[in-house]
Amino acid sequence: MDDIRVATFDGPGAAPVIRRVPRPAVPRKAALFTVGACGVCGTDLHILAGHWPKPLPWPFTLGHEVAGVIAEIGPDLKEDYMGNRLEVGAKIMIPPLMPCGECYYCRHYPKTANKCLTPVYYGRYLGFDKAPHLWGGWAEMEYVDLEMLPGTKIYRLPDDMPLWLGTLAEPFTSCVRAWKRAQEIGQFQPGSTVVIQGSGPIGVLSIVAALEMGAGRVIMVGAPEHPRLALCRQFGAEATIDIEQYRTPEERIAAVRETVGGFGADLVMDCSGHPSAGPEGIEMLRDGGTYIEMGQFTDAGSITTSWHRICTKDITILGSWAFTADDIWTGIQMLHRARDRYPFAAMQTRFPFTEQGVADAVAAAQQMRAVKATIVPHPDIVD
Ligand SMILES: [Zn+2]
Repeated sequence: MDDIRVATFDGPGAAPVIRRVPRPAVPRKAALFTVGACGVCGTDLHILAGHWPKPLPWPFTLGHEVAGVIAEIGPDLKEDYMGNRLEVGAKIMIPPLMPCGECYYCRHYPKTANKCLTPVYYGRYLGFDKAPHLWGGWAEMEYVDLEMLPGTKIYRLPDDMPLWLGTLAEPFTSCVRAWKRAQEIGQFQPGSTVVIQGSGPIGVLSIVAALEMGAGRVIMVGAPEHPRLALCRQFGAEATIDIEQYRTPEERIAAVRETVGGFGADLVMDCSGHPSAGPEGIEMLRDGGTYIEMGQFTDAGSITTSWHRICTKDITILGSWAFTADDIWTGIQMLHRARDRYPFAAMQTRFPFTEQGVADAVAAAQQMRAVKATIVPHPDIVD
């Protein structure tokens, strides 16, 4: 086989065209593998809808949920990222987006190296390539070259893992990491009740991840009943809320709260990608619960209106309301220790305890003339 057939798109909205690219020679630290299967991801759909915010080297080949079998391998490529042996016939997957290992984020924020500044895509840098030779998994074969791009990672799949299952490794990992983020901040406990918004593939795989990681109850909010919600129940969702039946946010919130009972869900995770899912999902939480946004991986949209940038930026947003009883003692002690190191007295403006004094204090606070207006009924005992 001298040519490799790859499916390419000329741009957003274009129909796929199967082209032939020359079969590359395989250098010492490279491999060519036969694609067994490759999933279609929501990110692919966003790219094909023109939602990718940066220029893309159209035409190119999509497909990053890939699993295949090594057909040809260079003599210096002996092990995968985990140290497993690589050889002709080995089943492998390659993730689409891998940290370079060298940039500022990779060095200094290793826990968010997924936000690497110069990541490797599909084994080659998007935008540095000549179409249609940049190809993803919607192709007969795929090529990886660790000399050209040392950030590229290869993972050997278990020999008895069918390739169709191997294609789910990448999207499933995204779901595991989302729950892990909540575990790391102590907000996902064994037995937690979780609500998932969005019954697409990420939603379904998030059911598995939640259950495997110890969730007690999983409730799915999505549509349609067939095939998606029925499948979610087969995957272990205790209940499903059909958004085609509960058509307004108020109805959906009420239905979830009724199903969950008590004060609401411990965690809600958005896998839908709808910007309105966030404000709606927050109302499904109990007070003190945790919301995880993982619905949308592209950073399309405006800075000020796009809720899903919480996901894109991989950030943690915390709400904080007042305090607990123990917090008060922490506050007293900290204030006492710091009393001479900050000009606390300078932030207070004192007002006498008279009708005029109280009125002046309120006015000074309202008009921001005082930082902290303070009414002093007994000046003789305050200092
Ligand atoms: Zn990097």
